[in-house]
Amino acid sequence: MSRLDSFINRMSAQRDILNHVRDTLDLPAGAVLEVGLGNGRTYSHLRENFSDRRVVAFDRQFAAHKTLAPAPGDFIEGEIRETGQGFVDKKAALVHADIGTGYPDKDAITLEWLPGMVAGMLAEGGVAVSGLPLSHPELEELPRLPSVEEGRYFLYRKT
Ligand code: SAM
Repeated sequence: MSRLDSFINRMSAQRDILNHVRDTLDLPAGAVLEVGLGNGRTYSHLRENFSDRRVVAFDRQFAAHKTLAPAPGDFIEGEIRETGQGFVDKKAALVHADIGTGYPDKDAITLEWLPGMVAGMLAEGGVAVSGLPLSHPELEELPRLPSVEEGRYFLYRKT
């Protein structure tokens, strides 16, 4: 598969899963956490589609379009492994984590802490959407959408 096709698959998986969460899954009260703001594409989608909730974004630095600047206090700058600790036990409704690199050795290091952090960030019944698989006893994987290729993007409910 070309890098272009792979990129398009990832983008459409993100949109399809986030729309599926919006349209068909009940979410508990709580904020939406965007773990990896990047260009702000999915952050923009989250703000538009979960507009009744606080959306908090994390990244090493703000590099999104300036029109997407989060409200004061809703952009958390720094290493997520550390900054995310401040959101553990705050009972988020939805966590979207898009911090995979495509390099298995780097992603293996992220996967040492990301599943536990995401599980800790969520309220019971909260939903996680992730580009990396999140293996954790409190995260139950939900069925893959037919439009999303296997292993591309993952959806979980916190039990
Ligand atoms: N979903 C975003 C979008 O639609 O624009 C793209 C996210 S991009 C793939 C991943 C982002 O996560 C990058 O901006 C990177 O700086 C950030 N990131 C990855 N690992 C991180 C870490 N451990 N701590 C802080 N930021 C991290």
